Amino acid sequence: MSAPVDLGALVPHLRAVCGDDGVITDAARRRTYESDGITYHAAVPGVVVLPTTAEQVAAVVRLCAERGVPFVPRGSGTGLSAGALPRPDGVLIVTSRMRRILEVDIDAQRAVVEPGVFNLDVTRAAAPHGYYYAPDPSSQQVCSVGGNIAENSGGAHCLKYGFTVNHVLGLEVVTPQGEIVELGGKAADAPGYDLIGAFIGSEGTLGIATKITVRLLRAPEKVSTMLAAFDSMDAGGQAVSAIIGAGMLPAAIEMMDALAIEAAEAAVRCDYPEGAGAVLIVELDGSAHDVDAQFDAVTALCRRAGAFEIRTASDAAERARIWKGRKSAFAAVGRISPAYIVQDGVVPRTALPEVLARIAELSARSGIRVANVFHAGDGNLHPLVLFDDADPGAAERAAEVSGAILDLCVEAGGSITGEHGVGVDKACHMPEMFTPADLETMDRFRRAFDPDGIANPEKLLPTPRLCGERPGVRTQEHPLVASGEAELF
Ligand SMILES: Cc1cc2nc3c(=O)[nH]c(=O)nc-3n(C[C@H](O)[C@H](O)[C@H](O)COP(=O)(O)OP(=O)(O)OC[C@H]3O[C@@H](n4cnc5c(N)ncnc54)[C@H](O)[C@@H]3O)c2cc1C
Repeated sequence: MSAPVDLGALVPHLRAVCGDDGVITDAARRRTYESDGITYHAAVPGVVVLPTTAEQVAAVVRLCAERGVPFVPRGSGTGLSAGALPRPDGVLIVTSRMRRILEVDIDAQRAVVEPGVFNLDVTRAAAPHGYYYAPDPSSQQVCSVGGNIAENSGGAHCLKYGFTVNHVLGLEVVTPQGEIVELGGKAADAPGYDLIGAFIGSEGTLGIATKITVRLLRAPEKVSTMLAAFDSMDAGGQAVSAIIGAGMLPAAIEMMDALAIEAAEAAVRCDYPEGAGAVLIVELDGSAHDVDAQFDAVTALCRRAGAFEIRTASDAAERARIWKGRKSAFAAVGRISPAYIVQDGVVPRTALPEVLARIAELSARSGIRVANVFHAGDGNLHPLVLFDDADPGAAERAAEVSGAILDLCVEAGGSITGEHGVGVDKACHMPEMFTPADLETMDRFRRAFDPDGIANPEKLLPTPRLCGERPGVRTQEHPLVASGEAELF
């Protein structure tokens, strides 16, 4: 093992690069960065730096590389898989001072932004021209585009528009050696290996994105939203299959079960139809002609699947009312349960009915309640595993149920994460999906970029040290949800 590095000796060099106010060494201030959105994984960073330019990021990374010091990139710290968990023996590189929108080129339908720019600010910059940036995680008011790149983030509208990877054309990246390189550019489809595709979703393990060129889309002429209520999840699921099977691609199809509806009602009184065992929110967008025609077809299919009530939003305020229950559902479970785990898995859409039935069996067998709120169109599940942390053993049982749900997703041909990433939290689940040879190949790929293993070590791929430790469980509302700045999807 190499000797521990004296971070104190590194600090004057970091100050020379980022200035005195760009380096945080004070213990109390460093603590404010100890976790991301999963607060049960925490570690105080050795040093925090706040660079303002790509050159500063590169110089900091070079200082780390020369001394073998690990570094962890961080955007807004909203991640839900402990991807930005700091290292006590390392440098946390925070992009929050790199928040400039460098270019909005409407003719080319592109924007160029720094990594710390909030996701929603890209749309705000494009909106006056009638354009928007499509990937819409529900943390979009505060999460950074750099963090979205690293997690390949999604949102309710990814059914039609795809994840972050479908909207990025170019990246400027600082490699783990501290070199600034360009991947792709404003033009589509650069020749050679798809290094942008490899970088997106790499969770900060291949370097730090310092400039991002994204695609802008023309805002649709019309958006129509409906809420359909069913007696059971099964009936709701049949409606989803019928809509997709009919060749339609709504902008979003979201589903909530009875427990999730109960929570949303308790928290925000969303006034969803009484007695519903499941509700679907279906949103269509496009030309007014297409949207109107498809809207009638979707209504008919929902009725045929057994919808006993269908509500249509006739304006933006009514649309917001329909989405209100869905958007607040995660935070709302705090009203019906003192503690909960937010799980994130994905299954092929056709496997949804079986997987949901097996989750219900798991719940009945263990006595642990599970509320389901999910992107039904994508097969992306976000089960909320509820427990009372005052009840001895309940947290452990909930963690077991939560892990067993991931097993079900993998068995059904799905994945251990839909959109929240692997980070530290799920690294030990990777062997459930990949053989040792697969993981070895991924490790070699990672080492081709980072031979010394200093870029966000112990994230994404399992390590023996990491997997000897048991992950904890979420026991409190996320501070951003509590402050009303973000909603959990
Ligand atoms: C209330 C709430 C709602 C959410 N809803 C959604 C949702 O609907 N969909 C969804 O997909 N996620 C959602 N998330 C998860 C989270 O917001 C996303 O994963 C988001 O992309 C994280 O961005 P961030 O800036 O906070 O990144 P951070 O948490 O700071 O970092 C996340 C990862 O990215 C790496 N990273 C950060 N910046 C860079 C960079 N410039 N270059 C390279 N690596 C970098 C970090 O090392 C880490 O591995 C939600 C989270 C919360 C708290």
